[in-house]
Amino acid sequence: MLKITPQDYDAIRRHGEETYPYECCGVLLGAMDGEVRIVTSTVRCGNTRTDSAHDRYHIDPKELVRVQREGRERGEDIVGFYHSHPDHPAQWSQEDLDQAHWFSCSYVITSVAQGTAEATNSFELTGSDENDKKFANEPVAVE
Ligand SMILES: [Zn+2]
Repeated sequence: MLKITPQDYDAIRRHGEETYPYECCGVLLGAMDGEVRIVTSTVRCGNTRTDSAHDRYHIDPKELVRVQREGRERGEDIVGFYHSHPDHPAQWSQEDLDQAHWFSCSYVITSVAQGTAEATNSFELTGSDENDKKFANEPVAVE
């Protein structure tokens, strides 16, 4: 289960509307509380994919290291990632699974239809290595 405040939830959905018709991407920072991932802040990242930014995304590894370091200084860990699917459902793609490497993190996808954010779904990357990894549907609590 992913727990996120209405402010952060709106922020990631708005980000997808702003970058439409391209994908947005960013990081979810927070902490684990038992089985619940609690988001305490979100960080926008630049989408480094310029060849096909409407259906794939990539966060610059250097940017990710910086986000992780700044988060730790505030006592926050990376608990997930988010991106948008312009004019596509809020369902993960094979490409999303191939590019997901953070086990036990949430991957949040927002569909943006004609510039307006619609569904937002979360998937937890489960498994233990690249061969058995899977996305599992994860409930999102906005509160
Ligand atoms: Zn995707």
